[in-house]
Amino acid sequence: MEKTDIAIIGAGAVGLAVAFRLSEFYKDIFIIERNSSFGQETSSRNSEVIHGGMYYPPDSLKKKTCIEGRRLLYQYCRENDIPHKKVGKLIVAIDPDEIRDLEALFKQGQENGVEGLKLLSKEEIKKIEPNIRAEAAIYSPETGIIDSHSFMKNLVFRFERNNGFIVYNSEVTGIDKTKEGFEMTLKSAQEGELKLAARVVINAAGLNSDKVARMAGLMKDEYTLKYCKGDYFRSNQRKAKFINHLIYPVPVKDHAGLGVHATLDLAGGLRFGPDTEYVKEIYYDIDPKKGKSFYESIRRFLPFMEEGDLSPDTAGMRPKLQGEGEGFRDFIIKEESANHLPGLINLIGIESPGLTGALSIGGMVKGMVDALC
Ligand SMILES: Cc1cc2nc3c(=O)[nH]c(=O)nc-3n(C[C@H](O)[C@H](O)[C@H](O)COP(=O)(O)OP(=O)(O)OC[C@H]3O[C@@H](n4cnc5c(N)ncnc54)[C@H](O)[C@@H]3O)c2cc1C
Repeated sequence: MEKTDIAIIGAGAVGLAVAFRLSEFYKDIFIIERNSSFGQETSSRNSEVIHGGMYYPPDSLKKKTCIEGRRLLYQYCRENDIPHKKVGKLIVAIDPDEIRDLEALFKQGQENGVEGLKLLSKEEIKKIEPNIRAEAAIYSPETGIIDSHSFMKNLVFRFERNNGFIVYNSEVTGIDKTKEGFEMTLKSAQEGELKLAARVVINAAGLNSDKVARMAGLMKDEYTLKYCKGDYFRSNQRKAKFINHLIYPVPVKDHAGLGVHATLDLAGGLRFGPDTEYVKEIYYDIDPKKGKSFYESIRRFLPFMEEGDLSPDTAGMRPKLQGEGEGFRDFIIKEESANHLPGLINLIGIESPGLTGALSIGGMVKGMVDALC
């Protein structure tokens, strides 16, 4: 049987960031990935926004990892030539009755320590975004966009340079506790069933992370994920030059997403989404008929858009702990000694801002591994 000190399940942005961080300090790390390459699931189906950190409750892991992760991510991008741009973002109150919620969000952002936030009046908005309709806005200069594929590719490069090893086309199908750690069963496309022993197992399996926790014996209801699909529509290229920043509406309290918003990409394109739709199964098709409701949402603050401007783009699936209509749920980032599984570290419900927070999550997990080894 193969043996390793540390096994990480999942080569998405989070699994890779954890692996890279650990590989700077530990030898003998394996990543097990069921797909034929890294980042084929949620990490390549998102808005690629580096979030500021104002949306999350002050004592939450989402807030901590978003703000710390953002700073680490900008530094990582600069040091490793990862394409990114601090474009800035406006959260807009479209009607006067949204201004109270906008001000509450501004206050929370300030309490969270998000740098540079400003409240803008209608006149100030006109100067920087003459084509949008808004009564007031929060300006967040720290918000940016990133080429997430380049980021993950670079993490793979640096992990492998530190002698880390990625096993692709291999699905973890079983995890048994042993005296020394864990024995994992792997179903490999080339080699059939394999066994791998590991002292520490890190579950970064994204949409599948609740099932992986269950494989190890953790049958907890509070770990159960719900799937919340987010579709995107793309604007025709002509309209991309009508805005200079990412433009978001004021979010509805406890809503599953941030509201259909406008994001620019590094290639100069303009996309709208993601919307929110709780679904039972994972699928990524987009119903083109949804274009009408996207248009209805965005034309409230982007009056230059016309219905024929939109075409279906990509879709992503949020691994959510928050069920439909329920309140805020935080990330689960937990070493499981208290549940009689010392050495198992679970990362569950890592939805947005998981891409922004990935390097911070990597640091937290390193702290947990340090305490074990
Ligand atoms: C619509 C949408 C928009 C988003 N926008 C943003 C944004 O703008 N900014 C931001 O910061 N975050 C955003 N996010 C969140 C971000 O994309 C995720 O938090 C992040 O990508 C999660 O990375 P991950 O590595 O945890 O998961 P994943 O990328 O899903 O990776 C998990 C990996 O585990 C593998 N795996 C699963 N089970 C097994 C198994 N049994 N054996 C082996 N391998 C296995 C999978 O194949 C997969 O490669 C968004 C998410 C969505 C859905």
